[in-house]
Amino acid sequence: MGLIVQKFGGTSVGSVERIQNVAKRVIMEKESGHDVVVVVSAMGKTTDQLVSLANELSSKPSKREMDMLLTTGEQVTIALLSMALYEMGHEAISFTGWQAGMMTESVHGNARITNIQTERIQEQLEQGKIVVVAGFQGISENGEITTLGRGGSDTTAVALAAALKADKCDIYTDVTGVFTTDPRYVKTARKLDAISYDEMLELANLGAGVLHPRAVEFAKNYDVPLEVRSSMELERGTIVKEEADMEQNLVVRGIAFEDQVTRVSVCGLPNGLHTLSTIFTTLANNGINVDIIIQSTSNEEKTSISFSVKTVDLEDTIRVLEEHKSLLQFEQIESESNLAKVSIVGSGMISNPGVAAQMFQVLSENGILIKMVSTSEIKVSAVVDVEYMVKSVEVLHEVFELSKEEAAV
Ligand code: ADP
Ligand code: ASP
Ligand code: MG
Repeated sequence: MGLIVQKFGGTSVGSVERIQNVAKRVIMEKESGHDVVVVVSAMGKTTDQLVSLANELSSKPSKREMDMLLTTGEQVTIALLSMALYEMGHEAISFTGWQAGMMTESVHGNARITNIQTERIQEQLEQGKIVVVAGFQGISENGEITTLGRGGSDTTAVALAAALKADKCDIYTDVTGVFTTDPRYVKTARKLDAISYDEMLELANLGAGVLHPRAVEFAKNYDVPLEVRSSMELERGTIVKEEADMEQNLVVRGIAFEDQVTRVSVCGLPNGLHTLSTIFTTLANNGINVDIIIQSTSNEEKTSISFSVKTVDLEDTIRVLEEHKSLLQFEQIESESNLAKVSIVGSGMISNPGVAAQMFQVLSENGILIKMVSTSEIKVSAVVDVEYMVKSVEVLHEVFELSKEEAAV
């Protein structure tokens, strides 16, 4: 007998019937002799609807009140699932984030978990109850309700699994596992049997919405065995685990992509020792997250720096730069929106030179212009026009043979 943490996402709890289906999946684990902690998201598109309501009232709603509002979504689901479990003959108790002891930083909208006080959950498990916890929420030191960022229920589940030393953490969702790329966009995408923590972390950070990046970070740091699987079908999902345990080292294991990318170019900067540090310190101090950076120098005196930001941050980026114009001494700012970032990820890249070259070649052969590039040991990202985003993913999926079955080992 062990302890299992199960997490069910929004679509999986999107209606009364689906909540009943989830209750059955929970009971299957309970009846096979395990203690079970269940983490759930808000039903269906509830969180999006709550965001829209807030936006109808205010163009910049208070972050504190936003957290107060959004956490109600998960609170609905925990109560309903506990009722469904009772109806099916099982004792269950629901806990909001603070009741579950989920302590976070004092940041609204994207707080990190600092500590989990698990006593209350453990007491209930000892009494034989199924514990149902609201995902995506916590409480700060000063007693404020916080949220962990969109998609953060995955992180609640994995962090709880780590704190409770669970035997495994199952992430139930609306696809049957982690695919070579998003199966909603690319029909030939193939489900992976396994993927390493590092590859999954890159994919999640680069836009593959199937897992919240911080959930993968927790799983890696605390060695939590993770499985991503379907809440509707019984087939096995994808195991996320240590690289060393994996059978093969594919050069490219998956492709992630994201739109809403904007390039900002700050032109005519003085070509000095401190130019780069001044500009990025200024942006960082003002909470602007920068992704890819390119510096181009055409003569000894002047330099230009281009970087990418999320399109929602464009307005703030330009405002901050303009406010610091006398410090930065640039001539002008240019920007280009409607861009997307397409990234290939695979731990086998470390030992295979030429992967980036192959990526650039296939994109150019297909008439797709690359506007920015960034690489790390196990990924290559290219920024392209958003209209070529899906096409880029398709041709890369094809050239790296990602729809081919992995050889049985
Ligand atoms: P949940 O509500 O269960 O948390 P999400 O919508 O957050 O579900 O995540 C599941 C979705 O992630 C899928 O429906 C799929 O469109 C998307 N997705 C993106 N990349 C991948 C990938 N590589 N493999 C599987 N799903 C992916
Ligand atoms: N309900 C939150 C969201 O939609 C958290 C989650 O589902 O993981 O982002
Ligand atoms: Mg999710």
